[in-house]
Amino acid sequence: MVLTQAAPLRFILEPSLERLARNLRLAGFDSVCALDSDRQVLLDRARDEFRVLVFRDWEFSKEEISGLRTCQVSGDEPGQLLRDVLAAFEALSTARSGGGFLTRCVDCNSELLLLPRDVAEQRLPSATVAEAGEVRGCRRCERSYWESPYWQRMRAWFQDVLSDSSRDS
Ligand SMILES: [Zn+2]
Repeated sequence: MVLTQAAPLRFILEPSLERLARNLRLAGFDSVCALDSDRQVLLDRARDEFRVLVFRDWEFSKEEISGLRTCQVSGDEPGQLLRDVLAAFEALSTARSGGGFLTRCVDCNSELLLLPRDVAEQRLPSATVAEAGEVRGCRRCERSYWESPYWQRMRAWFQDVLSDSSRDS
């Protein structure tokens, strides 16, 4: 099957690329990391769910990946890996705009919902809620996200990684 450019950009990654999967989620992209070491499971899921197959250590024959969108990466520097994948699909500028930041749970890949104040108050310590501003929550794993110092640092890292100046030529 040939996918059009309009197909949503979703990813499936080999097990060793868990950290990259988390960083893609941070950018807002639907990204699953195969926990199963069965290559066929990975390939089937990529096909069934129209996901871009991202791989590094695993090798695939032409036949295996026929018709799939794929992205082979190398190295293990987290920022470089994130840049390489996004650049390969011309998604750097979209990601750089920051619109997708903290819209998806980095742990479980579910979309985040903006929590009503009373729900946020149940989930967070009251002192934290007072300073938190918007609080978003994961529907599946119930992790909560707000612009804590941790996420502010992550956002700074993210913007630095995706900025033009840090981009490799
Ligand atoms: Zn979650």
